[in-house]
Amino acid sequence: MGCGRYRIDLEPRAGEAKPGTMLVHIKMRGRAPAGCVSPDFDHPGERCGRISVALCDEPLRHSAGTCSAPICERHRTKIGPDRDLCPRHVSERLPLEDATT
Ligand SMILES: [Zn+2]
Ligand SMILES: [Zn+2]
Repeated sequence: MGCGRYRIDLEPRAGEAKPGTMLVHIKMRGRAPAGCVSPDFDHPGERCGRISVALCDEPLRHSAGTCSAPICERHRTKIGPDRDLCPRHVSERLPLEDATT
């Protein structure tokens, strides 16, 4: 406990369109934040793995509690003060919002 593997973004180098990413082993005091479980933007099929900054607040239909998927800064969608959604639940909500337009 207290450490984990996380993906970090690297500065894009001259001539490279996309910034690279790197998996790093980080040691921390106390409880380490979970790694983001959403699919990575640049590496299809791989888990994002960036350090989570929020948890999904979408209520679950079939059980008490919330989705609670760890979400990183890039994957989070703020829907209110201290309320965030994971990409999966953002996409599930989108059709509802489109229906009003
Ligand atoms: Zn992420
Ligand atoms: Zn969610």
